[in-house]
Amino acid sequence: MKYEAEEKSQGLKTLFLDRDGVININHGYVYQPENFDFIDGIFSLCKDAQKKGYQIIIVTNQSGIARKYYSQSTFKNLSKWLEGEFWKQGVRIKQTLHCPHHPKFSLTCTCRKPKAGMIFKAQRRFKADLSKSVMVGDSLSDMHCAQRAKIKKSVFFTPNSLQYGPKLIRPRFKPYYQARCLKAIQAIL
Ligand SMILES: [Mg+2]
Ligand SMILES: [Zn+2]
Repeated sequence: MKYEAEEKSQGLKTLFLDRDGVININHGYVYQPENFDFIDGIFSLCKDAQKKGYQIIIVTNQSGIARKYYSQSTFKNLSKWLEGEFWKQGVRIKQTLHCPHHPKFSLTCTCRKPKAGMIFKAQRRFKADLSKSVMVGDSLSDMHCAQRAKIKKSVFFTPNSLQYGPKLIRPRFKPYYQARCLKAIQAIL
């Protein structure tokens, strides 16, 4: 009993996933299921993470809302649909957190990556233990966000990099891993 309580107080290891470019191909401001193309390996990565005890949280910049390309409720509907698609595969997405703000015109935003607001929200609301967590993103702002929040491991997903094979590159000089395919990430979970 005591151990159980201790484990709870330590929080949950969490797999943080960027959305566009990690879960789906980034066609630019995707807001409809019709334009949502899943990237190979995302479901097996999530299933593996789940098996290893990670909760899964999506953290996504959605400035298309501030730009009025689509509304907050359109975004929410897409997220609901997306979470449903994961659920069909047996994967529970704990939450989709988003920043709706414009990168230039919001003085009050603390959530747009590379800021770490969404990560700290997950820490507060969903007991994410950042010292045991992993961030996967396809842009440097994801990596910087993970660094600021002191997430244990971050993976820079670069499917189009010509430089590396389909492997996970362990960090030597960079404070993050690099992967050309999502499946490779399972090795560090
Ligand atoms: Mg991205
Ligand atoms: Zn924001």
